[in-house]
Amino acid sequence: MPVGTAASVKAVPQHLLEALDAQIILGNTYHLYLRPGHELIRNLGGLHRFMSWPRPILTDSGGFQVFSLNELRKVTENGVEFRSHLDGSSHFFSPEHSMEVQIALGSDIAMAFDECTEYPADRTRARHSLDITLRWAMRSKQHFEAHKNERPWGLELADQTPSLFGIVQGGMYLDLRRECAERLVEMDFPGYAIGGLSVGEPRELTREIIAETLPHLPADKPRYVMGVGYPDEIAEYARMGVDMMDCVLPTRAARHGLLFTSEGRVNIKNRKYAEDQNPPDPACGCMVCARYTRAYLRHLITAQEPLAAVLNTLHNLAFYLDTMRRVRAEIELS
Ligand SMILES: [Zn+2]
Repeated sequence: MPVGTAASVKAVPQHLLEALDAQIILGNTYHLYLRPGHELIRNLGGLHRFMSWPRPILTDSGGFQVFSLNELRKVTENGVEFRSHLDGSSHFFSPEHSMEVQIALGSDIAMAFDECTEYPADRTRARHSLDITLRWAMRSKQHFEAHKNERPWGLELADQTPSLFGIVQGGMYLDLRRECAERLVEMDFPGYAIGGLSVGEPRELTREIIAETLPHLPADKPRYVMGVGYPDEIAEYARMGVDMMDCVLPTRAARHGLLFTSEGRVNIKNRKYAEDQNPPDPACGCMVCARYTRAYLRHLITAQEPLAAVLNTLHNLAFYLDTMRRVRAEIELS
């Protein structure tokens, strides 16, 4: 899933996301709540209509940003008090409020409000975080079930009932991960996410947590790993049984001139590409590789042309989506 933080996958207009055949994008609840505000989006008919994106949207719970962008947050049983990173104003998110915001946005897949455990965290800290995440998962589910039909566009799309996924936490402790997964499965969500990864832990540990947690989540429901990864990682995780992933890497790296290609990573700012007439990736069939040279992309980013971000992002997203298409074809054949 390409990440569309603030109702935009940075540098890429929606018609080009469709041309890339992105099936679903992610929106960030925290950012949209602060700006332009979920009530404004609700009044304008929901996020799909607001940004003119007719395909599915998954929203995160806001929890991850509250924890990663707010040094001064205050967590209580009821929820989290935090200050806006935009203007310092004070806000409060509870599981119920997170559901209310996600429903107002018109999300197709909403995420339970969780406490993302930082890394490293000792066992006591991870245990506490896990317990509060489980209680918040139940409150999220109760509120979501009671209000999920209050989506902004009324009844015309009422058959498209939105879903709420639970999120497995538990730090880097395998037994806590298993316990969290089992307790969430008892609550019976239509899909499950593994959260609290890509928070600074070594890659081998990420892989181990995924491998040990997956068997405790039902294989016939979507299993989503949040916030990963490099192209080889997403292919590996998909082969292990992960159905969904999101990551800012293809879009963020593109804006810094880092291209993911069949020949490995290409830093397009490098002087050696100044007169390179080859496409960014000779094996890629995307709209950028079909038309432009490495020399041109290097010039654009060196000259700080806005088009650099657009073309680099388009290629990286195409490369990621192609990677997943290949894995899907491989799985279908096996
Ligand atoms: Zn390409």
